[in-house]
Amino acid sequence: MKRLQIAFAAATVALLYLSARGLNNTLYMPVIEKTPFGKTTSGEAVDLYTLKNASNARVQIMTYGGTVVSLQVPDRDGMLGDIVLGYDVLDGYLKNSPYFGSIVGRYGNRIGKGRFSLDGKQYQLPKNNGENTLHGGIKGFDKVVWKATEDRSTDGAALSLTYLSKDGEEGFPGNLSVKVVYTLINNNELRIEYSAATDKTTVVNLTHHSYFNLAGEGNILQHELMINAEQFTPVDAGLIPTGELRNVKGTPMDFTKPTAIGARIDQQDEQLILGKGYDHNWVLKNNAGKLSLAARVYEPRSGRVMEVSTTEPGLQFYSGNFLDGSITGKGGQVYQQRSGFCLETQHFPDSPNKPRFPSTVLKPGQQYTSTTIYKFSAQK
Ligand code: BGC
Repeated sequence: MKRLQIAFAAATVALLYLSARGLNNTLYMPVIEKTPFGKTTSGEAVDLYTLKNASNARVQIMTYGGTVVSLQVPDRDGMLGDIVLGYDVLDGYLKNSPYFGSIVGRYGNRIGKGRFSLDGKQYQLPKNNGENTLHGGIKGFDKVVWKATEDRSTDGAALSLTYLSKDGEEGFPGNLSVKVVYTLINNNELRIEYSAATDKTTVVNLTHHSYFNLAGEGNILQHELMINAEQFTPVDAGLIPTGELRNVKGTPMDFTKPTAIGARIDQQDEQLILGKGYDHNWVLKNNAGKLSLAARVYEPRSGRVMEVSTTEPGLQFYSGNFLDGSITGKGGQVYQQRSGFCLETQHFPDSPNKPRFPSTVLKPGQQYTSTTIYKFSAQK
């Protein structure tokens, strides 16, 4: 009898120990669920995947645009909140989306006058942003349906998305096969791994376009931002870089120390006026190609923290300047100017026309790779 009591007590202690260590973590199996999410205007079926991790964070990604539709992470009290802007249903994304949560390509950001030369040949892309081409043109990677496969790795739940961009699509040369893998890692990191290969020399610059609001509502002006960069690329009136790498020191572009996004946004600064706020590329202080910290954001009300690491040399910080109250998104929220911000890891805008910027040229036989991690935590 005594032995039985001892065994029972030992089992109880072992169980308590395991749960203190996070029983969930020990026994956890990543979860991925797939549900139909509607059809595009041309009748293509779109699926929505829900990935959950051991810490109860979850991300929903749809095959249209490889779009992050929702991203729920805990605040300082452990309360989950959706921290990305978007719509509840597919229709909104089809009709009017300023790239909410999507994969952007073949060339994320702007190409001046929509043209560039490669191997002595000139290419003209459709212009969809004044005189320039923005985010891959009229029908970029944000507006196509990607093929999805589920993958349960030990890291967490992963969704692989592939797309073949045909030679000549949106004016770009070469058949480009693209793969993007989203993994929701158990420690609340959303990792995005991009790869691509081409059969003709082309240019590639892939990024992700979530609009974050770590408070889940209101404006983003109190978010404290640090960008790991001492230089940025100043722009002209069409938001095309002039080619200069300018020091941030002494300017409202200096985020080397954590600073509220709203602290200087209304200053009479030439660059802020041109961008209608922040809409610029920062030159990251990373060792080209190595994953390193690009930015850190802290939201004081919720305590949520987001750290962005990347292998990319640049970061576009866009403060949601063109949101103007004309979009009613999730849960009936009206998205006003500065309801959300984007941190788009990338090569610099207009690199195909700027020989001194890091190159975005991809040749047959070469592999394009890029990794970005958005890591979430909370601070007291
Ligand atoms: C660009 C903005 C643009 C926005 C589109 C951002 O990546 O930098 O200029 O208006 O995307 O929603």
